[in-house]
Amino acid sequence: MLQKRPAPEHHCPLCSGPNGCAPALSGSFATPCWCQAQKIDAGARERVPAAQRGRACICQRCGTAAPPKK
Ligand SMILES: [Zn+2]
Repeated sequence: MLQKRPAPEHHCPLCSGPNGCAPALSGSFATPCWCQAQKIDAGARERVPAAQRGRACICQRCGTAAPPKK
């Protein structure tokens, strides 16, 4: 039986901090994660490097906070 498992990425690709991804920690998508209950900022998603997109979770801070404006 082939089961899809979350990538063991525990760091945010944007800030290198802990991403708080519960499925990555438990190794199972059955584990609920904060990202399912919150809206991830589309701009933050786009800033994830292509190599890590769809693999590494971004952290709650990067995923929900507006990026700093210059
Ligand atoms: Zn982050």
